[in-house]
Amino acid sequence: MRIAIIGFGAAAIGIMERLKESQQEIHVFEKSADIYSSSISGIRADGKLFVSSEMGGDITIDTALQRKLVDYYINFTEKKNVETGTSFGSSRFYKVFYDRGFLPVTSEFFHIGTDQLKEVLFNIYTHLSGVKNIHFHFNSTVSSIKIEKEGVLLNGTEHFDMAVVTVGRSGHKLINRLIEDYPYLVKNNTKVDLGIRFELPNHIVEELNHEMYEFKVKYKSRTGYMVRTFCNNPSGFVVTENYDDFTTVNGHAKLHEKSSNTNFAILASLILTEPFNDPIGYGSNIAKLSNLLAGEGKVILQTYSHFKESKRTKNLYRVSPTLAADKFILGDINLAYPRRIIESIIDFIENLNTVIPGVANNDNLVYAPEIKFYSNRLNNLANPFIKFAGDCSGATRSIIYATAHGYMMGEAILNNNFSTLES
Ligand SMILES: Cc1cc2nc3c(=O)[nH]c(=O)nc-3n(C[C@H](O)[C@H](O)[C@H](O)COP(=O)(O)OP(=O)(O)OC[C@H]3O[C@@H](n4cnc5c(N)ncnc54)[C@H](O)[C@@H]3O)c2cc1C
Repeated sequence: MRIAIIGFGAAAIGIMERLKESQQEIHVFEKSADIYSSSISGIRADGKLFVSSEMGGDITIDTALQRKLVDYYINFTEKKNVETGTSFGSSRFYKVFYDRGFLPVTSEFFHIGTDQLKEVLFNIYTHLSGVKNIHFHFNSTVSSIKIEKEGVLLNGTEHFDMAVVTVGRSGHKLINRLIEDYPYLVKNNTKVDLGIRFELPNHIVEELNHEMYEFKVKYKSRTGYMVRTFCNNPSGFVVTENYDDFTTVNGHAKLHEKSSNTNFAILASLILTEPFNDPIGYGSNIAKLSNLLAGEGKVILQTYSHFKESKRTKNLYRVSPTLAADKFILGDINLAYPRRIIESIIDFIENLNTVIPGVANNDNLVYAPEIKFYSNRLNNLANPFIKFAGDCSGATRSIIYATAHGYMMGEAILNNNFSTLES
């Protein structure tokens, strides 16, 4: 069988690993010019790997498979040197957080770091491109897939027996087009996470960072929204992320270069109901409104006390931002965000302060917009010739889950049974 894999990211790696010794002829189409060219993806920045049954996606993935894939990535580092730890494994913090109404999320983590990720990706590429049934095509954007009677047609020219779409979040144009042409491929999604990036001096969260590096907690705020921490970066850096028509904030950490601040996201999850059906449009418009206030390509930065009081920040005090000065404007996030989101975040921070005193200091930093989109959930049982793996399928949102989903896709192709991908 001739199979096209669209996109060379985490999910594609999983598929190829499972199919590399099979009889399938695999062609990988990647829009970037080479493996180094950046697309927005955690497989090219940061590289925190998690083993958890509580986060990473909306499917069940066996922890033994998750561990196997973590080892797979670590084996491609030259020094086999990664930071590692557990989140709430045997930590005394579990009980402290629990007692204050938080739901601690347990996981093991392994941090490769942006600098080391490049060599990992290069080594994986070298390994896979040496396999005789795998063929890479860079500089190859797939902009259309037509489903035919016996297979698919890519870009109106090339026929394959099957296409597995693994374009991640950056491939939303192709996904939107497919959904438009074949609406039966979609299961509806109405969820979006809206929030902020919070930055504070390392010493405030030192004990927590020391104990578990990545602390993840959820909390049902008094507004009724579930709020959670996401992507904690001890000694890390805040960065902006440029999408086609708006800019958001994010954070990362490096293995060698360290800052004196810790940053993490605080996100409120909105699940809206009918007739609402456009969570991406809703989140994008809030991002655009924030950018309108901050100036094109910039995000808003505010001190925590001003965020609470809805006053524009004009000066900072003790905490120096790690985001470059030309990437933000001091302002008031309240002018762009709905009140219910702001109240949920404030409630979360005030409660967190009862566990970690100093978190609610007046001069800690709040950046916006930070938004996490959930892709539409796509149906792998709807058509025999087109399949979806990784983040673009809506089933995953982490490197390990996406790689595992890809691996399971490989398995499903071999067994011609795709029902395991829908659990
Ligand atoms: C800044 C950032 C940091 C992150 N950090 C982490 C982290 O530390 N840990 C973690 O677990 N997760 C992290 N994530 C999430 C993680 O990157 C994703 O969950 C994971 O990479 C998804 O894998 P994927 O294969 O579905 O997509 P991706 O890894 O995004 O790969 C998709 C590939 O498809 C290509 N592509 C897109 N459209 C087309 C097209 N039309 N034609 C051809 N090629 C196309 C893209 O160029 C890309 O190479 C992060 C995400 C971001 C944005």
